[in-house]
Amino acid sequence: MSKGCAIVTGASRGIGAEIAFELAKSGFDIIVNYNNSKSQALSILEKIKQNGGNGSVFQCNVANRSNVDKMTEFALRTYGKIDVLVNNAGIAQQKLFTDITPDDWSQMLNVNLGGVFNCCQSVLPSMIHYKYGRIINISSVWGTEGASCEVHYSAVKAGIIGLSKALAKEVAPSGITVNVIAPGCIMTDMLTHDFDESTIKELAEETPVGRIGTPSDVARAAAFFASDFAGFITGQVLGVDGGFK
Ligand code: NAP
Repeated sequence: MSKGCAIVTGASRGIGAEIAFELAKSGFDIIVNYNNSKSQALSILEKIKQNGGNGSVFQCNVANRSNVDKMTEFALRTYGKIDVLVNNAGIAQQKLFTDITPDDWSQMLNVNLGGVFNCCQSVLPSMIHYKYGRIINISSVWGTEGASCEVHYSAVKAGIIGLSKALAKEVAPSGITVNVIAPGCIMTDMLTHDFDESTIKELAEETPVGRIGTPSDVARAAAFFASDFAGFITGQVLGVDGGFK
């Protein structure tokens, strides 16, 4: 029997794809959100279905509010209510602070923080109506520690933490929890696009557990926050970083 509906943003690749798969294993019907990678999103849905799960794909740019509202309407029309929202979609960019253009800054803000704002505000009326919801926001170790050459990324990832802590207090009386996962270095396209092999090796050596994380490491933490075990936990930031910070 279905445990309800979970929207996972940026679920076509990397961490989001694994979160979608893990939540489907837990019994949720999944909205596999993607922006550009349609065929990869369809493959994730196929994998979910082959493992006995259920869900749908939905194209939507999380930075665009009317796109997001259409995704919410689709989820409500298809599954009746939204139990879980995982705000995972994100972009990264490596640049010296002095080279960051106003457009780079706006893009980073609009996707990584604006996307969280849009999705939370869009799904909350339904969650409040049903007096139940689990919101899980994906920040980063750089959001708590700051990273050189990623000032705009670090700023918006810190913003996600502020947003989540404040929202957690506001919606707790409505039976909704809001928690944050702050991953360390996780092996996805984002990491391999930004860093060469020797830098990734160095990052693994700098990580106390001695390895780069896997999308599955993060997905299991998300499944915990979505589960009945986490009902009394809200406004928290869980580092999934192998002891990196
Ligand atoms: P990734 O492999 O680059 O995947 C990014 C995902 O986000 C893709 O599914 C992409 O969808 C989606 N996305 C990007 N912009 C979008 C938009 N405007 N609307 C909807 N979806 C959008 O990245 P990842 O490593 O899995 O990262 C996932 C999250 O974890 C991000 O928030 C990232 O900041 C965070 N994180 C990652 C690491 C790491 O080391 N990998 C560490 C800390 C935090 P399409 O391909 O369909 O466009």
